[in-house]
This record gives sequence, C-alpha cells and structure tokens, in this order.
Amino acid sequence: MISRYDRQTRVKEIGEAGQAKIAASVAVVAGLGALGTAAANLLARAGVGTLRLVDRDFVERSNLQRQTLYDEDDAARSLPKAEAAVEHLKRVNSEIRYEPIVEDIHPGNVERIIAGATVVVDGLDNFHARAVVNEACVKHGVPWVYGAGLATYGSSATIVPGATACLHCVMPAAALEATLPITCETVGVLGPVTSLVAAWQAAEALKIMVGAQAQVCRHLVHFELWANEVAMLPAMRADDCEVCVKRRFALLESGDRLMTTSLCGRDVVQVVPPPSFKLDLDLLRDTLSRSLELQENGHLLRFRADDHDMVVFPDGRAMVFGTADSRQALSLYGKYVGG
Ligand SMILES: [Zn+2]
Repeated sequence: MISRYDRQTRVKEIGEAGQAKIAASVAVVAGLGALGTAAANLLARAGVGTLRLVDRDFVERSNLQRQTLYDEDDAARSLPKAEAAVEHLKRVNSEIRYEPIVEDIHPGNVERIIAGATVVVDGLDNFHARAVVNEACVKHGVPWVYGAGLATYGSSATIVPGATACLHCVMPAAALEATLPITCETVGVLGPVTSLVAAWQAAEALKIMVGAQAQVCRHLVHFELWANEVAMLPAMRADDCEVCVKRRFALLESGDRLMTTSLCGRDVVQVVPPPSFKLDLDLLRDTLSRSLELQENGHLLRFRADDHDMVVFPDGRAMVFGTADSRQALSLYGKYVGG
C-alpha cells in the first residue's frame, strides 16, 4: 500500500527521514482564525505528530469566508473553534494526536501552552498576544512563525531564538499595539491573502520540524496581492533587544491578565477573570436558568440579559456583546457570572 505521505516523502528535502521527524514533532497553532485554520489543515495533512490547537473564540457566520476549516453547521452550533477544528481535522487525518485548548493566550498560560513544542505557528489577531508568544518562545528556545493578513496584504517572519531576529527586534512597539484601530473588522481581509500567508508559515514550520533551520527565511516577507508586489524586508537582530539579547521578559513577569479587552474592533468586550477565579459552569447554568433563557452546547453558555448577549466559557471568560465599554462589561459580568 502506498503511504499517505508518498508525495511528500518523494520531495528530496523531506524524504523518509524528514517524515519521521515531522511525525515526532509537536506544532502549536496559536489562534484558529483564517491563518490558523489554513495552517492547521496543511500541518495535519503533512502528518505532524501532535497538533495543539488554541483559540478563545467560537465559530461565527462571518468567519466562513476565509476560515477554511469551519462550515455553516459549526456557526449554527456556536462551537468553540478549537473543538470544531479538531472535529474536521480528525476526518482528514485520524492518525495524529490533537490537543484542543479553548483559552485566551496570556502571560499566565503561554508557557504551558508552548511547553514541549517543536514550533509555534502564529494565527493570532493582535500584537499584544504575539508579543507574549514572542517572549515565551525566546525564553524557552522554541521557534515560531509570525503571520498576519489584512485587506489585500499579508506578511510573515520566522523567529528562531538565538539565530534570527525576534519579533521585538523587528517591531519593538508591538506589545503596545493591543488595540490597533485597523483590524480585519474595519478594513476586511481577502481569503486568498490569509491562505497565502498561512501556506508560507506552514512551509517554514515544516523546515523547522525536519531540522532545516538554515533554510528558514531570514527576512520579513510582505505580499500585496492587489498591487502584485512581493517584498523581502531586512529583519535585523537588534544589538540591545530587551527580549532576545537582554532576556528581559517584561510581559511574562508582569503576570498580569487583562481584565477586559475589546475584541478586534467589534462591539464586544471580553472579560478575563484572574487565575484564582474558578467558575462552576454547572452551578452557573442552574442559577441563571431560573430567570433567563439559556443556550448551551457543552462548551459554552449563551444568554441575553439587560439587553446584552453574553457568552461564558468553562475557563470563566465571558464575552459581552453590544458594548465597547469595559466598565459596563465588568458590571454585567459581576452581576451574572460572579467574581
Ligand atoms: Zn529580539
């Protein structure tokens, strides 16, 4: 019988030896939006031994234009993206291991999430979270592949700690850009842009997994699909980089968890409880069901209260819709969820 990886092992850069290394690898896909779903699909088909799939969000109809692992049924069921992704990928490749994680990546959990990883692929939607991933990956020597797409353009960079520039070398202010007003919700994004960037990221991840570190791209690559431009911009290591030279991990050491974040320019506030807060979702369901109509799917609880839709996850996070006011969101959270 011909191996399912036959066409891949025929590529001399991979071969049987490379395939064995891919099978022994752990790839973390951080964020399962457009980039993350496209990259996870390629990596599952390529036979990555363990795929750890991380996302805080659930599937919505407006995701389907570019987030290539999901379908209308997932959106109708409001499935968490990590669970929906695993459901689909198991039908693509049932011979590898999947680890879905329905969590927001923050300084308090990032080191656990990347533990033991061969490579991390960036599918995140904000620079603050990327800066957190950068610190954790540099601290633990885990290579990661940055990627982003917006409107008609996208970019990627491969970060091998100790060998290449890190994200902080290239974009020192990235950690501050938690609330960039330009997001895919305000200017949109083309599906081909995100699929192209994700394919580039997946190729970089495969190089890292087979040990072809010398072959990774040392530039910041930029694609502009409408103007037909591809640029390779220098990504120089900064001599005085706080993160990869001085090894000061300010975000990790702050241990701070944002109590609220506005999500990607939408009229939604996410409330993240402190690590000490433990939510009893069953108890919450019983309590709320006395006065409110609840929807649930085993992964989250959804209800409408005080003219706002709210979604609560088992880790205690909640999304409050119909507001951009963090104080109002915290007040609704306090009233209906607790803390
Ligand atoms: Zn650096």
